[in-house]
Amino acid sequence: MAINSKNPETIVLHAGWRADPTTGSVAVPIHQTTSYLFRDTDHAANLFALSEMGNIYTRIMNPTQDVLEQRITALEGGAAALATSSGQAASTFAVMNLCQAGDNFVTSTDLYGGTWNLFANTLKQFGIEARFVDPADPEAFVRASDDKTRCWYAETLPNPKLQAFPIKEVAALAEQIGVPLIMDNTACPVLCKPFDHGAHIIVYSTTKFIGGHGTSIGGMIVDSGKFDWEKHGARFPLLTQPDASYHGAVWTEAVKPLGPVAYIIRARVILQRDLGSAMSPMNAFQFIQGLETLPLRMRVHSDNAAAVAHWLAKHPKVEKVIYPGAMQGESRRRANAILKHGYGALLGFELKGGAEAGKRFINKLEMFYHVANIGDSRSLAIHPASTTHSQLSDADKLATGVTPGYVRLSIGLEHMDDILADLSQALDAA
Ligand code: PLP
Repeated sequence: MAINSKNPETIVLHAGWRADPTTGSVAVPIHQTTSYLFRDTDHAANLFALSEMGNIYTRIMNPTQDVLEQRITALEGGAAALATSSGQAASTFAVMNLCQAGDNFVTSTDLYGGTWNLFANTLKQFGIEARFVDPADPEAFVRASDDKTRCWYAETLPNPKLQAFPIKEVAALAEQIGVPLIMDNTACPVLCKPFDHGAHIIVYSTTKFIGGHGTSIGGMIVDSGKFDWEKHGARFPLLTQPDASYHGAVWTEAVKPLGPVAYIIRARVILQRDLGSAMSPMNAFQFIQGLETLPLRMRVHSDNAAAVAHWLAKHPKVEKVIYPGAMQGESRRRANAILKHGYGALLGFELKGGAEAGKRFINKLEMFYHVANIGDSRSLAIHPASTTHSQLSDADKLATGVTPGYVRLSIGLEHMDDILADLSQALDAA
């Protein structure tokens, strides 16, 4: 029976899988295999020629990954997805699937530090130029683009500033220029559906909220199937010109019978084949378990973070709370435009006592984990000025939103009394 629900709570439990046809197993099996038996030589040849879809080798596809890919595709209202070994692999593939040496792409400055390094340094070594622009100004994406620009990239809710990205405004401009908008939606799955606002491709670090248990590293690229690669063919030679590494396939032509999935098929059969950042079947299984409760968890994360933001705002040692639901003006309008049912788990606050108070506060926490992570079911905290951002100059720290006394929290699912008790006793020492 096909489940055609549009509701996230149902999709995460039912999309892409009912039960194993031979054993009746309801849980998705962990297909811990490297390879798949071909029926005969014709079958093998058809699979390699992509004239028939099926499993070849787990570096390129796997039935456990496939269920996860189908579920996240359904959750986002996309056309197809590709699981990767990490969020970093997903961001890398998302850009490299369109850019080659000599090309450029335009990206928001407000990025996870690992993505910043990937774009500013590592992709540069491959001859791909990242052009950084201020996300507060959507037109800046247009001004930074030229005929070698292959895509635009941004995060939905980048920390530490937690200023929601104007997806709708930038996606409309991207349509005018003829480039796809790639959104990293790691911080707010379910709460924001970037395709509903016009984005074309989504990337995730599934390591965070989608997993939720903090057990596995993984990533996902989701293709909306909405971008018209052929209309802007000259800009996308990797998709619209014969591909020498796949006996001259033109991806926009070759995969037409499968639907609008040229982008994701190329990512799978070229980048995943050659660079090999596959998600392990075990991790795919772990993410399927996490995904089942994602809509429920995002609601509780959001409710708990809202309560913490409210409580912190009244605390005498707190200078300022940085939280989308506490912002005013344009920042608040942007948050309300893209986030539904809550503002997510993340919030920051500045301590009046500066860097030393920030360190004292972190060292005093008993229940909160002091880790460089977000999105776990447990509450997490970090003092960026002395850790993740410590190598930056003071000016660069401020530009990224990290003041000396800034503390970042990822609020978990514990009981509110316990969350506030831990924050309260640590603030006493700050
Ligand atoms: N994108 C965002 C917003 C992140 O926070 C992270 C990791 O912290 C990544 C991407 C990278 O993901 P991963 O650690 O799974 O490679």
